[in-house]
Amino acid sequence: MPLSRYHVRYPDPDCPGSRLLFSTKKGSVVRISDRRLAAILDGNPTVSERATLTRLELWTDDPAVERAGMADIVARTNARSRRFVATVVLTLDCNLDCPYCFEGDFRGNFPMEADTARLLVEVVTRDQIGRGRDVEIRFYGGEPLMALPRLKAISRSLQQAAESGGTTYSMSLVTNGTLLTRPLVEELLPLGLESAQVTLDGSPEIHDRQRPFASGRGSYGTILKNVVDVHKSVTLKLGGNFTQDNFRRFPRMLDDLLAAGVDPARLDPIQFAPILPRSGRTAGHDAGGCLFTGDEPWLIEAALYLREETLARGFAVDRPGMGICMVELEDRLVVNRDGTLYKCPAFLGWPELSVGTLAEGIGDYSESHRLDFWKTETCLDCAYLPLCFGGCRLLPMLRRGAIDGVDCRKPFFDAALEKIILQGVRHPRAPAIRPPS
Ligand code: SF4
Ligand code: SF4
Repeated sequence: MPLSRYHVRYPDPDCPGSRLLFSTKKGSVVRISDRRLAAILDGNPTVSERATLTRLELWTDDPAVERAGMADIVARTNARSRRFVATVVLTLDCNLDCPYCFEGDFRGNFPMEADTARLLVEVVTRDQIGRGRDVEIRFYGGEPLMALPRLKAISRSLQQAAESGGTTYSMSLVTNGTLLTRPLVEELLPLGLESAQVTLDGSPEIHDRQRPFASGRGSYGTILKNVVDVHKSVTLKLGGNFTQDNFRRFPRMLDDLLAAGVDPARLDPIQFAPILPRSGRTAGHDAGGCLFTGDEPWLIEAALYLREETLARGFAVDRPGMGICMVELEDRLVVNRDGTLYKCPAFLGWPELSVGTLAEGIGDYSESHRLDFWKTETCLDCAYLPLCFGGCRLLPMLRRGAIDGVDCRKPFFDAALEKIILQGVRHPRAPAIRPPS
């Protein structure tokens, strides 16, 4: 069959007698009549059908070459990279006290010291800007805006280094949003601020319980006001963390955003995600009913429900597309406040998953992180491979304390992808979400 093995097809309920073909490689979708599909499957496409299917990466002249190309895709992506992205933990201090905080076991007044910040600038300038790469720093915490002088100093230095080196510097924030006022955004824009990721957990009651200030006071109203004030000045990525018991009340935050005058077209896709257990813990600990697998029926129901409600209100959601894990990408790194290096912020609670230090460089993490664990016959033959690449390495860590195999998402995709594709076709401005990881 010359159709790509990395596609799925479903009956189109809005057009009886037709199918929707979705390329998991390109994220493209096309409607084809059952009659023409039968001719294509017999190897008799018209010239224009063949050209269209090739453009959409739904057709391949040689399935063996296509499969080998998928096996090689991470190496090719790494070789092409011109942009380095570092997630930098500026401080483990925070002005909120969220009971579910992922970093709850090691949060505290632990800022990045000046020497570590200087070393960070030196290493990024030498190893990245010096090799002609653009640089993005994602400031992370705790709450990164509680270490504002350090954030500005790092940005100023890297901005100057990039300018001298003929590359570009930009920064983004992963912030709780309480300090993200308009004057602050205006101060940070000239230093390269491009976007901020902000969390609002559903209704005011849920949010204020899940994300209170350290004093116990709710933070929903403060964050909502800041979002309204800054959303036209900086790109905002809004999201929220739900549980099985409260996800149905999350559309309330979308209604509040609309009522407060937020323009959905000015926001990046909304990303809702289930609450995960604390970093550094395994299933042996009390996880407080948090999520350990990505295919629980309630999670599939929650993902589809929240996506539909988000789209119905005119907000965008992420499209399903190529999902190479940042662990496999050489141009992605996490720098902890003490200068230790990781490949994913979710691993900060497991010192054994550190891959090196700023002072000594990066060691070999191919075994500890099971690079290429998806290069099995089963995965290479799986239509979902481009969306999955073996799933999230965090979930086996949480379940068993080791990255000891893939986290197969097939049950999730079997149950949800058809509906996700259909939602995308019915809401063409804002097609689809990534499955929760
Ligand atoms: S805002 Fe983030 S870092 Fe701060 S307590 Fe809440 S989850 Fe933890
Ligand atoms: S882990 Fe499962 S869903 Fe993912 S590519 Fe392999 S077989 Fe497919």
